[in-house]
Amino acid sequence: MNNDNQSAARKLLAVFAHPDDETFICGGTLAKYAAEGVDITLVSATRGEMGRRMGNPPYLNRETIAAAREQELREACDCLGVRELIFLDIRDKTVEFIDEESLTARIEILIHEIDPDIVLTFHEQLGGHPDHCAIGKATKAAFSRAGRREGLYYISFGGMMEVPERYGYTREDIVKVNVSGHLEAKLAAFRAHRCQSEIDEWVWLPDAEAMTRFGEYEYLIKSEEAAPIVNASDLFQAEDSHAVLVAGVNL
Ligand SMILES: [Zn+2]
Repeated sequence: MNNDNQSAARKLLAVFAHPDDETFICGGTLAKYAAEGVDITLVSATRGEMGRRMGNPPYLNRETIAAAREQELREACDCLGVRELIFLDIRDKTVEFIDEESLTARIEILIHEIDPDIVLTFHEQLGGHPDHCAIGKATKAAFSRAGRREGLYYISFGGMMEVPERYGYTREDIVKVNVSGHLEAKLAAFRAHRCQSEIDEWVWLPDAEAMTRFGEYEYLIKSEEAAPIVNASDLFQAEDSHAVLVAGVNL
């Protein structure tokens, strides 16, 4: 690959709290963009070692769970097409107690190093778990400190953003990604997180039946500072200018 092509590769950085956040919440989105050639880096703040699910029947304990969940996350990344995985080595269930300044600084360094077009993280109020909210808050601060305005999105659960008004947003704040062509990858990643998904019988039904549990869409919330969304079905808002630039290089 020559330098022109390398510089043209689109990059996405996802900063989450636990192994499985990436799959259970936005696995279809990650699989879709990976399939389109986007270079995806996933940051997991913790190894999820305080999780209550230990497999079914349990095959893990407090001593073995961290390494097992790390391995399961690596397998899930392979299923989704996530190229690189970075752990922040924070203890599970303590992200909210980590010094905010140092956590923000660590993420800011990653943003500078990776130089992503898109950053995904949790919404600091709608994250649903203290670790989620804390990593989202720090990532938002890091993004802003890195001098970025565009490209920060918050992941959301299931179809909650079908009615964004309930959460103080409007339809104009939401990107609705059609993930229907990537549900097999999402299901494979669910199964890779075996100790968490094993107890959910539907995950282990025949593929076609299991996949009926997934929505066709995943919903991302635009960060407050970003310009209005022009393409409500794609995270990469500058796609057109990007395509023109690539065409120019190829000529
Ligand atoms: Zn989580």
